[in-house]
Amino acid sequence: MNGTATYDVIIVGGGPCGLAAGIEASKSGLTHLILEKGSITESIRRYPKMMRFFSTAENIEIGGIPFPITGVKANRNEALQYYRKVAGYYKLNVKLFTTVDRVEKHGEAFLVLTTTGQTYHARKVILATGYFDKPRWLGISGEELPHVTHYYDEPFQYSFSNVVIIGASNSAVEAALELYRADAHVTIVHRAEDFRKTVKYWLIPDVKNRVKEGKIHTQFNTCITRIEPGKVCTANLQTGEESELPADFVLILTGYIPDADLLQRCGVELNYETQVPVYDKETFETNVPGLYVCGTVMAGIYTEKVFIENGREHAQAIIDHIVGREVHQVKELIERI
Ligand SMILES: Cc1cc2nc3c(=O)[nH]c(=O)nc-3n(C[C@H](O)[C@H](O)[C@H](O)COP(=O)(O)OP(=O)(O)OC[C@H]3O[C@@H](n4cnc5c(N)ncnc54)[C@H](O)[C@@H]3O)c2cc1C
Repeated sequence: MNGTATYDVIIVGGGPCGLAAGIEASKSGLTHLILEKGSITESIRRYPKMMRFFSTAENIEIGGIPFPITGVKANRNEALQYYRKVAGYYKLNVKLFTTVDRVEKHGEAFLVLTTTGQTYHARKVILATGYFDKPRWLGISGEELPHVTHYYDEPFQYSFSNVVIIGASNSAVEAALELYRADAHVTIVHRAEDFRKTVKYWLIPDVKNRVKEGKIHTQFNTCITRIEPGKVCTANLQTGEESELPADFVLILTGYIPDADLLQRCGVELNYETQVPVYDKETFETNVPGLYVCGTVMAGIYTEKVFIENGREHAQAIIDHIVGREVHQVKELIERI
């Protein structure tokens, strides 16, 4: 069934930043529709079940609605409850399980097309599709095997197994600690000489002490050259020495990247190297007039620079621009991009 109404704004993506855009549109008296390919805040729903945000709860609030929790930092379940309640409170018009394939501009208006052939009409479109659907593939043989995943969920399926974790970021360290505590035999393999500096400060002593005790194993300055059933092949980047590690499971936790193809299908130009879309740094309008990027989708390869904390602010600037108000300055816009 195709939508016949013309919305003032269609928002693609029902994550925190897309919801924030819906709230700002609604507050400004604009009709809106949020098209979301999964459940509400689908990315967060797919985060590790036991994850806790590094941001304080107030820093990931949207729509000015307080986020009360017992401690300081919310966990995944609390965040899911919060965003759902906020969406309900603002009566956001959300159509779930609807994947947008592309956006076409016809004259001054937009046609939004879904993968199942539905079409929706809008005066303006905001892309808030995040980055969690596209893992950074290593491009090595065996990466597509069934015992290999780019998403970590919960530890219990890995108990009493050999697990190789590739990467040394927050996700890798959190997974390693949870797995070790669920009796998995964990080895972290990473290209650089240490854990990444961005790892949550409270996790560093925990993981380093477990490494010192020999409870979590590490191979730094090492890359994986091939994955096979039951093992991975490694090469030391300093000595060139090749070896093998037993691996019943391989978790490739090297991050995610926005879907550049989707942006291009919507007519948005990208920097080839950084995959950062062309957009106005104050209004977030892309090279396609009336089409905006909001949240982490505008980060290209620099996803570690845009969070809910600053991405939520894009919404207000975008809606200001759409209604012709003075544009709210986004303080935390990252200079690198
Ligand atoms: C483990 C982990 C911990 C994190 N902790 C923090 C933290 O503590 N603080 C913080 O600020 N940030 C944190 N982040 C980052 C934060 O979650 C993201 O920056 C945030 O989710 C971005 O919000 P968004 O709305 O831009 O994108 P998302 O939350 O990814 O939402 C995008 C939505 O778009 C939907 N979508 C995608 N493509 C389509 C399509 N074609 N059609 C329709 N819908 C589509 C997706 O299903 C998704 O629901 C963390 C990230 C991870 C992975």
